[in-house]
Amino acid sequence: MVRKAIFGGTFDPIHNGHLHIAYEALNKLNLDEIIFMPTGNPPHKENLCITDAYLRYKMVQMAIKKEVKFKVSDYEIVSDEVCYTYKTLQHFKKVEPETVWYFLTGADCLVDLPNWKFIDKIFEVANFTVFLRPGYSLDLLHFSKRKIEEKYSTKILLLDVAMLDISSTNIRTFIRNQKDVSLLMPESVLNYALELKLYS
Ligand code: ATP
Ligand code: MG
Repeated sequence: MVRKAIFGGTFDPIHNGHLHIAYEALNKLNLDEIIFMPTGNPPHKENLCITDAYLRYKMVQMAIKKEVKFKVSDYEIVSDEVCYTYKTLQHFKKVEPETVWYFLTGADCLVDLPNWKFIDKIFEVANFTVFLRPGYSLDLLHFSKRKIEEKYSTKILLLDVAMLDISSTNIRTFIRNQKDVSLLMPESVLNYALELKLYS
């Protein structure tokens, strides 16, 4: 059976925290492919100023070059509408109904999940998978997980992996303040961001 994951994010920019959980997912879930899905018009961030979708897509493309099982999709960035996760997942499930689908997220998404649209529809088509992230206690995550599982009669996968304290927000701030971020993200992505002055 083919096993694939969709890994959605703003990726503004993509960083080693993203790549780390993607590699962990690949191994722990025995996946055949991970599709990075940069969001075009994210429902949660529509009022914030984010980097052009195509540039974020390009940075993901550069970051995943070395791993053949990592792919990037422009499905959400070419869409004119606000993209909801459940719609994207439904689309991919429809195209490949035999594939076992996973949806990868960090701990912050689990805590925020009650605010997402039609989360029951996500559970229908994909295994919702959560990775630990600094700043979110295991107690809180288990509590959130249990509440959602009970409400929707579903199962959420919580994966206990080494945590990397990296976020795109921090990277953007560090670059603006001319701090060294070379250990936090792929070199090619950093060079591209600096060249285009994306965050300075
Ligand atoms: P921002 O600070 O702009 O929100 P971010 O670092 O959270 O950026 P996103 O693009 O928002 O990155 O995240 C995409 C997905 O990756 C989310 O599910 C998020 O929880 C997860 N993620 C990001 N960084 C990490 C990390 N260091 N550890 C675990 N999960 C992470
Ligand atoms: Mg985030």
